[in-house]
Amino acid sequence: MNLNNNFFEKFENNFNKDVNLSNYSWFNLGGNAEYFFKPKDKNQLIEFLKEAKKNNLKTTILGAGSNTLVRDNGVKGAVIKLGTSFSYTKLIDNNIIETGAATLDRKVSNFATENGIANFEFLSCIPGSIGGAIIMNSGCYENDVSKILTSIQVIDKNDFTEKEIKKEDINFLYRGTDLKKDLIIISAKFNGLISEKNKIEKKKLELIERKKISQPSQIKTCGSTFKNLNKDKKAWMLIKESGCINFKEGDATISQKHCNFFVNNGKAKSKDIENLIKKVKKTVYDKTGVNLELEIKIIGE
Ligand SMILES: Cc1cc2nc3c(=O)[nH]c(=O)nc-3n(C[C@H](O)[C@H](O)[C@H](O)COP(=O)(O)OP(=O)(O)OC[C@H]3O[C@@H](n4cnc5c(N)ncnc54)[C@H](O)[C@@H]3O)c2cc1C
Repeated sequence: MNLNNNFFEKFENNFNKDVNLSNYSWFNLGGNAEYFFKPKDKNQLIEFLKEAKKNNLKTTILGAGSNTLVRDNGVKGAVIKLGTSFSYTKLIDNNIIETGAATLDRKVSNFATENGIANFEFLSCIPGSIGGAIIMNSGCYENDVSKILTSIQVIDKNDFTEKEIKKEDINFLYRGTDLKKDLIIISAKFNGLISEKNKIEKKKLELIERKKISQPSQIKTCGSTFKNLNKDKKAWMLIKESGCINFKEGDATISQKHCNFFVNNGKAKSKDIENLIKKVKKTVYDKTGVNLELEIKIIGE
């Protein structure tokens, strides 16, 4: 799609053509975004969404890319990634934190610790941004985002309005929500419990240690590929029981430490990861009758 030059003049350096998305996904894979937009602030984001709608330009929002596989042929339209002005944390009451949607979960957890607010410890184990964590209702160790969220601030891609949505009006699912696809989260408020800093720090370090023991690190992955069935029947158990752990497609393999983590060993293509997903899904279905559901998101052509 060829956009008129106005787009480039209006959004200057924040708007680019043909940007490689492999740097924006934890799999370190994928083709180009036809257009890539990093809004400098909320007003510019709204302005951009208006122009995009006028020009029939499809938009896709990306967080830290720790749960997103980008296909090899890239993403048509514009990929939006919130810029640094959407990355902040501030205390708005003793136990209430406001944070920009691009803030990394780990930073929010650290901020809560510094301010003696408990229940954010689990966020130090999740490598994404707050926007992604809310959409995914991310969590671990008996906690998830729904348990600490108060409200979110969003921009609606259809009417360009900004609104607040209270937690009570969101239906949280296991690794998901019923929020409309047309909403871009720009910030969120969370609440925790006032507690002693050293106790919070201790719990946080314990969780980080637990994670280190059970999950691989320093690899190109997007974490759990499939959703667990329930507390007792985890996806990794089905993958193991079905004899998939040594499956391989091109340079895409399965982590030996946690077999629900699929890995790009360096030279894999997105297609290899997708083929591996299909192969495991089919084998698990044939052997156990369970139809595994994807936790990771796949975008692009
Ligand atoms: C090593 C590793 C360990 C992991 N461990 C866990 C774990 O313990 N628990 C867990 O739940 N997950 C885990 N994950 C998965 C991942 O980190 C989470 O799903 C994370 O919350 C995704 O955040 P993100 O910003 O990277 O989202 P992305 O992958 O960028 O996006 C995920 C979804 O959110 C949408 N989105 C992102 N930002 C916004 C926004 N501002 N507004 C609207 N929509 C938005 C995207 O469109 C997409 O649909 C792990 C991943 C890795 C790589």
